[in-house]
Amino acid sequence: MTNMDHRNSNTRHSVPTPGGRRSARHAETPRHAGAAHKAPKPHARAQSPAHTSHHAAISQGAVHAYRPAAEAQAHKPAAQAPKPAAARMLSARRPSKLNSTSSTPQGAIIVVALLALAVLGGFVFWSNRKVDITLNGKATEVRIGSTLEDVISEGDVQVKPGNLVSVSGNVLEEGKGSAYSAKVNDADMSGQDAGSFHVQGGEKIEIGDGSDKIEDYDATEETTQPKLRMEGGAGAIAYVKQWGMPGKVETRTGKQSGETATVTVSDPQDCVIYLHNVKPDNDRKIVALTFDDGPSTYTKQYLDILNQYGAHATFFNLGNSVKNMPDASRAIVEQGSQVASHTTSHKDLATLDAAGLQSELSTAFQAIQDADGVTTTIFRPPYGSYNIKCWLSSGGIASASIIWNIDSVDWKRPGADAIVQSCTTNVKPGSIILMHDGGGNRDQDVEALPTIIKTLQDQGYEFVTIDELMQSDSSIPADIATGSATMPEGAVWPTEIAS
Ligand SMILES: [Zn+2]
Repeated sequence: MTNMDHRNSNTRHSVPTPGGRRSARHAETPRHAGAAHKAPKPHARAQSPAHTSHHAAISQGAVHAYRPAAEAQAHKPAAQAPKPAAARMLSARRPSKLNSTSSTPQGAIIVVALLALAVLGGFVFWSNRKVDITLNGKATEVRIGSTLEDVISEGDVQVKPGNLVSVSGNVLEEGKGSAYSAKVNDADMSGQDAGSFHVQGGEKIEIGDGSDKIEDYDATEETTQPKLRMEGGAGAIAYVKQWGMPGKVETRTGKQSGETATVTVSDPQDCVIYLHNVKPDNDRKIVALTFDDGPSTYTKQYLDILNQYGAHATFFNLGNSVKNMPDASRAIVEQGSQVASHTTSHKDLATLDAAGLQSELSTAFQAIQDADGVTTTIFRPPYGSYNIKCWLSSGGIASASIIWNIDSVDWKRPGADAIVQSCTTNVKPGSIILMHDGGGNRDQDVEALPTIIKTLQDQGYEFVTIDELMQSDSSIPADIATGSATMPEGAVWPTEIAS
């Protein structure tokens, strides 16, 4: 087999495509006449279906095949001569071997250039293709990669820029606010986000007028105080339903305008005292027996009776009496009953100033803490006398004031039967019954107590402490229902009653 034969056979195998045909045609030009007579029959082969998917790269092989080695060298400078831009670009992309070995550089360059153009064109088309977006509720086509500014101009959206305004809202410079406002898929685009946004397709874009920009300003901050409110109308207990929280105001002085404006940063949260009658969840049949003015020499007898009937009660002790009879106070806790405050010395709290009132409350709470190891912030005001002004004066020491809705009127010493009658009439789930274990002769109470307990137990009632009673009513905040809630961190007690 000769060299030429070999080339021919090579050619036969590699000139199937129209490209190959073109190469063959070039091979027949006079310059290549020496090889022309040896040209294969490209037409026949070009139609071979088996080869139709071959591409230009193969045709290069065909070119190569027809070219004597010497000619390849001769053409080399031509291949490296200045080329059209497209061809230059292409030669940079293709292996240099193809250029240096091309026997038909123009043909190769054209082919490659066309391919390059096709690829480039495809790329340009792809990277500039239009995509669908929803612009202000309307289906719109925009170029992929568009910025929001592009969308505004291409989408023909009319937007009005905001103004530069003073701290008090006067226009300082028209149109010097933000140029537009934008939401992409319902998310607000801040200035920075807007700058880096590019449409990908499918977005819901809403473009609106620009917002005003406030001039630069100096600011000073002040806190504002919550006020005190009472809600709920009436009830045997009054508790802190909501603690007061301070608010914030900022005073701004505009650097450009010199104007001053006060801006509310956050509103204060009022302190709310709620008046309420305990309603145990599911109408649970529980009641609370309460004994005031102790501890006294009678207290032990009360505890024995409670033990006898498996009952618990709440003793609103006077701070001074607790100090005098700490053992009696401690015995209450040991029996499983509750100790709470009846103030230090039984003064009418409504007649006291803030310092006097706070002292009456805090000294008794401390006495109970000291004698019984019990932390309590609930109390019963002497004579039931505790109004909104008292709450205001309290400084937030107490979490709840507990009075009653069943009064034994035992202080009148009406006889044991009358006391039983008062204490067992109109009792409801959640009732609080008022009796005394101190403050005088309590013989009638001691005589009445077993009958009171037995009568109500026979009706299905259970005797619980005030804490348990409050905890049975899920409308009462959990911290208050512990009986020992204190002002949470960050809260402040109001100094003014809400008008
Ligand atoms: Zn009392």
